[in-house]
Amino acid sequence: MPKRKFRQFHRPKGMHDILPDEWPYWRKIYKTLSKLSEDYGFSRIDTPILEETDLYLRSTGEGTDIVEKQMYNLKTKGGDYLTLRPEGTPGIVRAYIENGMIGMSQPVKLYYVGPFFRYEAPQHGRYREFHQWGLEAIGGSSPVLDAQIIFVFYIFLKELGIKNLSIQINSIGCKECRPGYRRALVAYYKYKKAKLCSDCRRRLGINPLRLLDCKNPSCQNLAREAPQVLDYLCDDCKSHFKNVLEFLDELELPYFLNPHLVRGLDYYTKTVFEILPEEGKDLRQSALAAGGRFDNLVEFLGGKPTPAVGGALGIERVISLMKTRNIRAEKGKKNQIFFAQLGDLAKKKSLKIIEKLRKSGFSVISALSKDSIKSQLKIANKYEVDFSLILGHKEALEEKIIIRDMNTGIQEVVKLNDLAKKLRQKMRRRKRV
Ligand code: AMP
Repeated sequence: MPKRKFRQFHRPKGMHDILPDEWPYWRKIYKTLSKLSEDYGFSRIDTPILEETDLYLRSTGEGTDIVEKQMYNLKTKGGDYLTLRPEGTPGIVRAYIENGMIGMSQPVKLYYVGPFFRYEAPQHGRYREFHQWGLEAIGGSSPVLDAQIIFVFYIFLKELGIKNLSIQINSIGCKECRPGYRRALVAYYKYKKAKLCSDCRRRLGINPLRLLDCKNPSCQNLAREAPQVLDYLCDDCKSHFKNVLEFLDELELPYFLNPHLVRGLDYYTKTVFEILPEEGKDLRQSALAAGGRFDNLVEFLGGKPTPAVGGALGIERVISLMKTRNIRAEKGKKNQIFFAQLGDLAKKKSLKIIEKLRKSGFSVISALSKDSIKSQLKIANKYEVDFSLILGHKEALEEKIIIRDMNTGIQEVVKLNDLAKKLRQKMRRRKRV
């Protein structure tokens, strides 16, 4: 067979194009999350998409799925080992230490948003490139911060119109009390190894807490009877957890204690949480947001001992839930109009008129490469604009333009000099109706 000269390329498996049709959702989400983050005193931070591979080995942890299976690693020409960030917290903590943020007023409250990469088996709600919005409060040990982070994620989802949420919460203790719980778990599983899946048999020696959230039915049966972490918490962890719950009670948040919630990562201490839609609370890939405390991580990465808490929300999962629940994102922009032209002279004048309108605060859609009015107005209908402008040869000569009300079909000829004023009047009247 002759070799084809041109070949078509495809997006990498598990990664997506965000097409213009999707953007109303993204726009709404970005707008809501940045307003909410800033309103609650979180400042935006952006860190590189690549970090040293070692950063994740040391923080996310060697026994975790992320480090064992999911990292995109590369070696640069200069011989550096780098990784496409699989999660946000390690990079943020690295930046906190490196930029001397310990010298700022504590806690330092930061938020980030952007792409993350995990080499997972792609399925609904689980992608190889996905986007997270993250919140971190570094330098504060008070349980009120744990509650505030959970609350901000919850309020965000409510503001998007997502109701019926379930907050699952647990405490996994600290370096004082967790070793005792670990021992109790290992002792419990010691003679039950034969009933564990192969992953759990291996994890028992590295990270026995992970056995509690395995989705294998036989492992789940065993987990039901396993010792519960809350019985092993030290006084400090117990009182911290009790306080977090009291703050959540005060906020009237619907939370459930889930003794099997452990989260996959090594650095968590004390509080861990997930926010899920009611209908998906048993499905692992349905958590919309998740996080917890990480009181040892700053020290572990070379900083001074600094308590911290944070979480991250998956934007693709939120959009997918909005779609299944028929929650619409705003279509079109405020002050959006359509500009149509007919004839050479009109086309020539178009660019200047559009720029004048833009400067007056309008967002102008047009199809300048088209000549027929019918096909241009068809596009205007698709955008659902309230008003279209039509510039014909006669109008162009007379420095005038037609404003067409797209709902009634009524047209008015106005002077170009009065156009912005007239349009604003018409839009105001439309809003009042
Ligand atoms: P994690 O960083 O694993 O705690 O995840 C926090 C949130 O990010 C989850 O609750 C999901 O909403 C989202 N998320 C994590 N992994 C993926 C993925 N592979 N694909 C899509 N969303 C994800």
